Amino acid sequence: MFLGVQIVSIAVLLCIMIGYSGLRKLPIYSTKWYGRFLLCGLANFVLESFSLLTLYEKLPAEWNRFSHQLFFLSLVGVLHCFLLFIDIKGRNQKRYTVKELFMRSAPFWFTVPVVLFGEVNYYIDGVVRYSYGSMVTGISLIAAMYFVSYILLVYHFRKILTQREIATFVYVFISIIIITLIQMFVPFLLMTSMSVALMAMNIFMTFENPREHADLEVLHSLNKNAFYTMVNEYVQRKQEFYIVSMTLTNSQILKDAKGYNATVAYMEDAALYMKQYANTDLIFHPKRDWISLVFADKKKYYAFMEEQRELFQQEGHNEHGSAKFMMSILKCPEFAGSLDEVVKILDYVDKIKSEIKDKILRIDETILEEKNHFAQIEAVVQKAIEEDGFDVYYQPIFSNSKKAFVSAEALVRLRDTKTIGYISPDVFIPIAEENGMIHELGNIVFRKVCKFISENNLASYGIQYVEVNLSGAQFMDDKLNEILSSYVKEYNVPPEFINLEITETASIEAAAMLEYNMHRLKECRFKFSMDDFGTGYSNLAKIAQSDFDLIKLDKSLLWPCFEKEGQKEARIILESSVDMILKLGKSIVAEGVETKEQVDYLTEQGVEYLQGYFFSRPLPGEKYLAFMKDNDLV
Ligand code: C2E
Ligand code: CA
Ligand code: CA
Repeated sequence: MFLGVQIVSIAVLLCIMIGYSGLRKLPIYSTKWYGRFLLCGLANFVLESFSLLTLYEKLPAEWNRFSHQLFFLSLVGVLHCFLLFIDIKGRNQKRYTVKELFMRSAPFWFTVPVVLFGEVNYYIDGVVRYSYGSMVTGISLIAAMYFVSYILLVYHFRKILTQREIATFVYVFISIIIITLIQMFVPFLLMTSMSVALMAMNIFMTFENPREHADLEVLHSLNKNAFYTMVNEYVQRKQEFYIVSMTLTNSQILKDAKGYNATVAYMEDAALYMKQYANTDLIFHPKRDWISLVFADKKKYYAFMEEQRELFQQEGHNEHGSAKFMMSILKCPEFAGSLDEVVKILDYVDKIKSEIKDKILRIDETILEEKNHFAQIEAVVQKAIEEDGFDVYYQPIFSNSKKAFVSAEALVRLRDTKTIGYISPDVFIPIAEENGMIHELGNIVFRKVCKFISENNLASYGIQYVEVNLSGAQFMDDKLNEILSSYVKEYNVPPEFINLEITETASIEAAAMLEYNMHRLKECRFKFSMDDFGTGYSNLAKIAQSDFDLIKLDKSLLWPCFEKEGQKEARIILESSVDMILKLGKSIVAEGVETKEQVDYLTEQGVEYLQGYFFSRPLPGEKYLAFMKDNDLV
């Protein structure tokens, strides 16, 4: 009796089973069926060897028939699990209903009468022995049917499966054909086990290899793909589940200050933290600053959250070195019914993460509404970029020494006020900054201002310069200088006619880039104003250096000087600020000037430029020119 093929095949299968059982795998539907495939495979090997034994050793005929029956059943079981495995991959892990499973199992039910009533005969000629008869023929036909179904299924799902997956299937099919051919010519070498081992090995390498899911950055976690697969699995199961995530909220600052590796190390710590408290290996790294858990078991989720609610709310517990974390909970399918929705919500929370105050954030209707609103604004802004939907308004700036309006601040407006009503630049500019549209938007505004200056000969109105707002993000572009220079050239505007307003940002890396761009723009004769002085971002050391020609006092410094409470302190702050800036030799623009009293007070302090509703609101270009004509005091 020759059992060489069986022994090699069993060895291969056992290796796969042992290796596989020790690996961290996702509890998804196809994996479940792969497990069944392996079990059927093992049963099949044992039964195959046993039925060979019954052929060679003189055992009672009933034993012989019975072992063949079991062997054939297990073989069809293997073939069937493989069929379902391909199907489940193709249908994206969607679970079967009982009816579907019953229908899909038709070939298997078909096998039962063949096995029960079929005939097995034995060819015995010395050592060459094999079985034949209607049972053997029937099973061979069924196996052939399965084989054709595999090919049809893979063909059917060719657009869903990846190239590599298809290649694996094709490889398995060709191997099976070769093995079958050998089997036909050497019938006494029972080789089905070899086909099964081959199938098992190939699926293991391509589909069920958990290494495919390992994250290369945060080593204790599984990657984005694994997360998507897992979420999709729960969505398909139509069961309630929770995604609990730990998000690094100050990643940008950290990256600038401590570098990329330190940030990854913080994420690694977060992964270990989640692993420890949730007591699971299934920790995901679905996005750059995110470590997530997926709970399908309500009890485990409650236990975990109960502990976290106490721990995480404690002072400083959400901080780790200089890293700050937020914990968020997304309940599905209540707040996200598909993988796509989950991804979109996490993307949204990621965008606003630095502004979230809660240590533990429950993602609910309010956030969903905000997200939709955010998406609507994005769409309106995107459309405005594509279809020239922005207007630039100009707010006059009054000079105390000249007693005339000598400049204006250009302020962008969205022309579309119908789709979702009026949207303030205070709302859409931060959104454009977050999604990167700010570059195009900023260029559009800058170009419009240049056009306006050149077409209307603003200098003839007594205007000395125009203030244009630039966002911090624009200063992170090393081409900024070339872009702005090309526009002033195109419209023949002298660069010194433009004052670029910028707000200081806190980040260190950003500061280097900002300096680089300011330096180059200065060389091109552009001038600079420091915007929003007094709002907390202004860097006093920066004012001392000669980078800024003008300092713009924020309204939050001015308004409290005219309120009942804290008026005295507010005035001390404003007056010392003004004093300091003047001593440093810079000019001041006060913003938000709304009353005569404020005008007088600021004038008394020596503030040269005044801007605010007292003089005028921001006006469309035409109206601004008319305003300048009416106020021609020069
Ligand atoms: P900002 O640079 O501080 O602009 C001044 C804001 O104060 C303007 O709001 C202006 O309309 C408003 N304002 C002026 N005088 C008064 C006053 O007397 N009382 C009150 N209550 N408000 C006054 P606006 O136009 O809504 O712009 C808001 C912010 O949006 C701007 O703040 C600026 O940061 C940003 N922004 C506007 N246009 C642009 C742009 O073209 N590019 C960039 N990057 N940002 C812009
Ligand atoms: Ca401004
Ligand atoms: Ca301002």
